[in-house]
Amino acid sequence: MRINHAIRIAAGVAALALTVTACGGSSNKTASQHAADGKLTIGIKYDQPGLGLQNKDGSYSGFDVDVAKFVADKLGVKPENITFKESPSAQRETLIQNGQVDFIVATYSITDARKQKVDFAGPYFITGQSLLVRSDNTDITGPESLNGNKKLCSVKGSTPAQNIKDKYVSAKEVQLQEYDTYSLCVEALKSGAVDAVTTDDIILRGYAAQSPGALKVVGNTFTTEKYGIGVKKGDTESRGKINDAIDAMISSGAWKAALEKEFGSTGIQIPEPPKVDRY
Ligand code: GLU
Repeated sequence: MRINHAIRIAAGVAALALTVTACGGSSNKTASQHAADGKLTIGIKYDQPGLGLQNKDGSYSGFDVDVAKFVADKLGVKPENITFKESPSAQRETLIQNGQVDFIVATYSITDARKQKVDFAGPYFITGQSLLVRSDNTDITGPESLNGNKKLCSVKGSTPAQNIKDKYVSAKEVQLQEYDTYSLCVEALKSGAVDAVTTDDIILRGYAAQSPGALKVVGNTFTTEKYGIGVKKGDTESRGKINDAIDAMISSGAWKAALEKEFGSTGIQIPEPPKVDRY
């Protein structure tokens, strides 16, 4: 009787595992093994203009998409054989750990906490946290002006939200609202529901460029964010190959050309490329 019960449970678990594999598209192969099969699933953002954007016609654009396609090409995968998957900030480690993506190129800062769960190739870009406000705002000029009960929006599971919680909310100077995506924060800013949005400068520049005359980036950057390409922890082979691809993108001039294509019209200075960290 007890054995029967155990068998039934075991069968149930096995069936569930099969279903998860079939539906989620996850598998135990590494990114480079999938690339050798000719296909990759790459996590990006869908709502960050200039970085990772799903366009109305279903195509994808932005610097992260350019990096993803360059890396895929170096791994032998054509752009038409890439499946892009939306990877909101708070879900990135889980998507990698569960094998739902081969790697993630999504404004993903390399941090020690995240390195407990995933590995990072790169960095391929360095930016820092800043603030986005409505163009007519004059009282928010930088992090030091986040007082007087200002409403600030950022995204769940992101480094800027954590930084605000650590340094500013504890002092009861600011009310942090955490949404799932930055585009929801930007809508709230436009409607007046929040006073400012905070995340990486390069992300905010993309939104400001999309709403000329309505939104502006203020202050200097007040953190350092190094963007890495997230891969499964322990997959040193894929990480090494992705690092080689990033090096090639930088040395060939494709890195600078991509940034000029995506951000040239915003007037931002294209920074010097970072040095890949082969830890
Ligand atoms: N780079 C920061 C992070 O990884 C903010 C941008 C984002 O949430 O994607 O958390």
